[in-house]
Amino acid sequence: MIDIKKRLQSLHNTINQAETQAQRPQNSVQLLAVSKTWPAELLRQAANAGQICFGENYLQEALIKIKALADLDLQWHFIGPIQSNKTKDIAQHFSWVQSVARIKIAQRLNKQRPDTLPALNVCVQVNIDDEKTKFGTSAAELDLLVDEIDQLDRLVLRGLMVIPTKTDNIEQQHSAFQRAHQLFTKLQDQYPTIDTLSMGMTADMNSAITQGSTMIRVGTGIFGQRHTPAE
Ligand SMILES: *Cc1c(COP(=O)(O)O)cnc(C)c1O
Repeated sequence: MIDIKKRLQSLHNTINQAETQAQRPQNSVQLLAVSKTWPAELLRQAANAGQICFGENYLQEALIKIKALADLDLQWHFIGPIQSNKTKDIAQHFSWVQSVARIKIAQRLNKQRPDTLPALNVCVQVNIDDEKTKFGTSAAELDLLVDEIDQLDRLVLRGLMVIPTKTDNIEQQHSAFQRAHQLFTKLQDQYPTIDTLSMGMTADMNSAITQGSTMIRVGTGIFGQRHTPAE
């Protein structure tokens, strides 16, 4: 059995080292535990070890876990592609959505966010390498989308989320993260609520932290290799 507590401790050490190396303040990078495909009991172990923020990609699976762990004070982030028919449940059960890429989706989330809950935190997912098959808005369309989201009063514009092309080429990896960071700092100058640059996963978190990530999304590095296919 894997020791989630040990994994989390060693992950926090790695994050702290990367922060130091990048001459960034300690704890300037948040850890989102990506728990897709893993059962609620494993998430509970992580929560008992101090983990609060969890990221899920698949709505039905996420709703089961959110219900099973309702006795804990956790923060749920939706990080998967969003179709229109999913927005209502997302607006009702999550506190963050990191994968908003179209205005229509943002408008639906805004309308469907219950009045009893605080405004929904939103990151725009940017298709930073302009990959044909990848979800996300293009860098060219970003300004317009961000401006429209900023006007929706049940959403809080928090920042950007990127998933660069998988590559072993460090320079290419750095370049994608750098471009994302440039987009982020430019938007930060215009919108005071923007504070989150969500980038970096198990394989590329060091590079992402070096390039200014404020939130890494780690699955494998906490829970181990996923066996069930993701979906
Ligand atoms: C699965 C997933 C992750 C985590 O990936 P690992 O390589 O397991 O750390 C991060 N972000 C998104 C959007 C994901 O879908």
